[in-house]
Amino acid sequence: MANPLYDGLFGAHAGKDTPFLHLLDGKTVTHQDFLSTASQIAHVATQLGLKTGDRVAAQIEKSPEALALYAACAQAGLVFLPLNTAYTVDELTYFIENSGASLIVCDSKSEEKLTPVGAQLDAKVETLNADGSGTLMDQAATMPASFETVDRDGDDLAAFLYTSGTTGRSKGAMLTQNNLLSNAQALVKEWRFTSDDVLLHALPIFHTHGLFVATNVTLAAGSSMVFMPKFDLDEIISRMPNATTMMGVPTFYTRLLDDDRFTKELAAHMRLFISGSAPLLAETHVQFEERTGHRILERYGMTETNMNTSNPYDGDRRAGTVGFPLPGVELKICDSDGNALPQGEIGEIEVRGPNVFKGYWQMPEKTAAELRENGFFITGDLGRIDEDGYVHIVGRNKDLIISGGYNIYPKEIELVLDDQPGVTESAVVGVPHPDFGETVVGIIVAEPGQSPDLDAMMGAVRESLARFKHPRKLILMDELPRNTMGKVQKNILRDQYKNMFV
Ligand code: ATP
Ligand code: MG
Repeated sequence: MANPLYDGLFGAHAGKDTPFLHLLDGKTVTHQDFLSTASQIAHVATQLGLKTGDRVAAQIEKSPEALALYAACAQAGLVFLPLNTAYTVDELTYFIENSGASLIVCDSKSEEKLTPVGAQLDAKVETLNADGSGTLMDQAATMPASFETVDRDGDDLAAFLYTSGTTGRSKGAMLTQNNLLSNAQALVKEWRFTSDDVLLHALPIFHTHGLFVATNVTLAAGSSMVFMPKFDLDEIISRMPNATTMMGVPTFYTRLLDDDRFTKELAAHMRLFISGSAPLLAETHVQFEERTGHRILERYGMTETNMNTSNPYDGDRRAGTVGFPLPGVELKICDSDGNALPQGEIGEIEVRGPNVFKGYWQMPEKTAAELRENGFFITGDLGRIDEDGYVHIVGRNKDLIISGGYNIYPKEIELVLDDQPGVTESAVVGVPHPDFGETVVGIIVAEPGQSPDLDAMMGAVRESLARFKHPRKLILMDELPRNTMGKVQKNILRDQYKNMFV
């Protein structure tokens, strides 16, 4: 028997003194150091009474030990459940209760409030702080540095990962060992990762991007990462000359571009910049290439499926597209019944493959509504495939505006608004309207120091878009509301302007 996820990502590096994590204090954690820590934590979990398949909920700061907890769960056959560090204790209680976790690992700061929650839900509570201190590692320090890996099947659950909650309450996606492993292996090939790579890792590790995409790819390739507690521009800039790759959300790239220290020379050692989690503005793509000579590679994925598509490593990386389906992933553009639409039409994006999750934890109705019996997952995103096969995301199904019976795709209007002088970005939403059901409102963020002419902007819109798509109102805003993953929260905007016309 075996444990495909542990063996494939972690066990493969047993005994190696090769670097895995480069820390900001100059220390390096080798692969074997990391595995020893993970095994010690696996012993602690087992001694606390956790059994194969039990859930471990963790709301902890990013640290090597936090990552080792993930490895420990894989080795001990436990289901890892990382939680957003921004959640309040009330929100946490929901997730802990919902998941039926047997162990809660939290920061010492939350211990007092979570101890009664643990007692009530029959879950043990241990602490792990950003500096590695706390009761978890105190116990781990007394444990042997090797642990007999628990047998698991590729179809067994490895993690519950909660979605970002951009469109509603976060849902727990049940991910199997094979979901994670197959995607990591596909991405290593697709993005040409080798053991020589050094990744700048500044993403949180409670989300699929930083945890599964960045970390699993690094492990699967046997490469290393500069492991940063958070996105810190000074650190990124100082470390870039020794790195080869970076994965980021679009705001990482706009913040780099806003800094004069970010030059072609600084990025000369890098071979690849990857962006995802939210749409990269075409403008960012262009500016980035002008500044560095690098074309950012944009990919598309989500909590429920890991990654689905990627722009090509070799070949044309096209701004405003998310590239092609990964090998092994099928992607269709469908009507609401799941029938494929003619090439070029806009519809719902559905995906199927070894990457697609098993369903939402304890939400059978939601699972049945979004995961078809034939294995296709209805992503909730709208898109189209162009004549060259590139996938374009045009927005989320929930953000579609229906005005006077016409479907309006916000992205199409946003692209026109973004193109106007003095505009950094925009968000187009539908708000209730007595005659049309919904109507279009455009929210504009100006470039620093600019005050774009809204009348001129309406003129430009009139020239390029059909009348029914014209925003009824344009509004200037300092910045768009975003969640921790940098995603624009259109529900907040819709709510804010819901009474504008009624
Ligand atoms: P919730 O499902 O709780 O509303 P969420 O969908 O934002 O939250 P995630 O799973 O973190 O939670 O995000 C996946 C979504 O992010 C995708 O469905 C898609 O809308 C968006 N996304 C990811 N990558 C890209 C990209 N490159 N371009 C455009 N959108 C992207
Ligand atoms: Mg989602």
